[in-house]
Amino acid sequence: MDTIVMYPSVGITHVLPMVELAKFMQHHHPNSFSTTILVTPHPYANSAATDAALAKLSTTTPSITFHHLTSTQSLPSPPPSPQSPSLSFDLALHNNPLLYRTLDTIAKTSSTSGGGAIKALIIDFFNTAALDVSATLNIPTYIYFPSSAGALAAVLYMPTLHHTFTKSFKDFEEDFEVEIPGLVPVPKSHLSNSMSDRSSKFYHHFLRLGRRMPKSKGFILNTFEMLQERAVKALSEGKCVESGTTPPIFAVGPLTGGTGKKRYGGYSGGDGDGGSNNGSRHECLSWLDSQPSQSVVFVCFGSMGILPAEQLKEVAVGLEKSGQRFLWVVRTPPIEAEDQEEPSLESLLPEGFLERVKDRGHVVRSWAPQFEVLSHDSVGGFVTHCGWNSVLEAVWNGVPMVTWPLFAEQKMNKVFLVADVKLALPLKWSETGFVSAVELEERVRELMDSASGKAIRERVAAMKEGARAALSVGGSSVVALDKLVALWRSGV
Ligand code: UDP
Repeated sequence: MDTIVMYPSVGITHVLPMVELAKFMQHHHPNSFSTTILVTPHPYANSAATDAALAKLSTTTPSITFHHLTSTQSLPSPPPSPQSPSLSFDLALHNNPLLYRTLDTIAKTSSTSGGGAIKALIIDFFNTAALDVSATLNIPTYIYFPSSAGALAAVLYMPTLHHTFTKSFKDFEEDFEVEIPGLVPVPKSHLSNSMSDRSSKFYHHFLRLGRRMPKSKGFILNTFEMLQERAVKALSEGKCVESGTTPPIFAVGPLTGGTGKKRYGGYSGGDGDGGSNNGSRHECLSWLDSQPSQSVVFVCFGSMGILPAEQLKEVAVGLEKSGQRFLWVVRTPPIEAEDQEEPSLESLLPEGFLERVKDRGHVVRSWAPQFEVLSHDSVGGFVTHCGWNSVLEAVWNGVPMVTWPLFAEQKMNKVFLVADVKLALPLKWSETGFVSAVELEERVRELMDSASGKAIRERVAAMKEGARAALSVGGSSVVALDKLVALWRSGV
């Protein structure tokens, strides 16, 4: 059987979407290809959680082979911050020789054991450096872009912006808006940092990506046409790449972790275990069971979002004053010293808060099974940092949002949600990024209990149906997948 090799960036949150893509492909095109996923171990972080997740995936998805790219060379640079894209770019470059050897071995082993060729390599956009390797080995290479179609349009349009303007957007007047094909105008304050400051290293990383990525054979996007019609159209029509052609766009989403059986009409992938933690159902889901339908606001900032201590207290006051039911995931910075104790929830939150809200509020430490939470009938709203997976999970489950973006391209996703598709209400923040308790209180109440909140709820409900239609046989995402598979079969 021919092989498809997938090469996600470092970290389990990059591996999981590729696993979903592999399962989606295998469901619609069974026995067409074998899939190998190349996993890059994190050079600095403790990998126990990732290893455990991979071990579980290996047993639940035996059709996928996981291969660890373990480099013996040490990295020259000191560990960057966890939110910095620098590590991902540096690792990709560093691992190119190893990637070459690995792909070469997979190809040779496959042909000597009677298997087929590597028909395609699918790389995370952070691993764009791998294009050099695959070109040498003559393997057709596609880029999987893990965020919104609008974010891809913006990166591809960076070379055009770079020579159209002569200074950093951060130095433009306050109300300046950037025009990017496929996006509603983006206020300069909402551009990702990597686009707004020409003196930053990341600006040049992303500028290079904007030039290099069109050299791939195609873009695979975790979105669906109805959700991002404007951006998918602009990309497909080649409006974002200034010189040369744009490779084809395949919008195959929404592919999210969760109960695959329900989602793809019979495929048995996904967690499917109801948000279990070591086999038992997470206690926050039991708490949700006792709440009325669509009454709870879920507050969560993704896998990396950490609010400063003062902001945590302000959130608590806002949620309390809103009078709404809520489920809040509180994450604090990781403990650095071994002998340092994790601060208690009581010490992080206002005095007496947990006691006062105990009948209508529930606080979870660090992590909740978000997909299962959002699919629970009691959840009726979501205060989100606008990470793309969170957006897709909210849309898939028909949950209206309040936007609180923190970093990376999240502010651009916010503009899309609020001003383009109108699936969310925006939270205002101060110049320092601080959100007041009053602002949170008012937006949460507006979402849960007002005519504008109701209008958003109705639009998200329609989009939820659109997401299901996209993933049904004949739907836009399945048709896009079929085209992709046809290209792989033909060896293009
Ligand atoms: N997530 C979760 N529980 C949490 C926080 C995050 O299950 O407490 C999951 C969430 O469901 C999503 C992913 O982690 O699938 C976060 O991805 P996203 O793109 O939204 O944000 P990022 O973590 O990359 O900032």
